[in-house]
Amino acid sequence: MASSHSNYTNSPCAACKFLRRRCTSGCVFAPYFPPDEPTKFANVHRIFGASNVSKILHEVSPHQREDTVNSLAYEAEARLNDPVYGCVGAISVLQRQVSKLQRELEETNADLMRYASSLGGGTTSSYGGQRD
Ligand SMILES: [Zn+2]
Repeated sequence: MASSHSNYTNSPCAACKFLRRRCTSGCVFAPYFPPDEPTKFANVHRIFGASNVSKILHEVSPHQREDTVNSLAYEAEARLNDPVYGCVGAISVLQRQVSKLQRELEETNADLMRYASSLGGGTTSSYGGQRD
């Protein structure tokens, strides 16, 4: 996996290969769409279109481009797997899981409180409230 990233004069990036154009040294796609991951670009192109992806990459600052591409690739794959909901489907599954686990945590904490108070013998609980 130690293929040279800087000197790719004769192997175009996945985007340029897909679009059948010359990959120049300043190609905005090249750092994020290596030739060994052809489906990554194909998915993103199918969902968003190459010109939109290029526009988005030019709009964000260079240090955000990798995250941007990863997000686009994730969204494109999710949309291809689930044309109706896309990544919203995954989000709602995870949200349901979170609220289920939160309920479980609350129940467990309540059990723990009951257990602790049955052991402790009420060192701090005085039913008189504040007497001072
Ligand atoms: Zn390229």
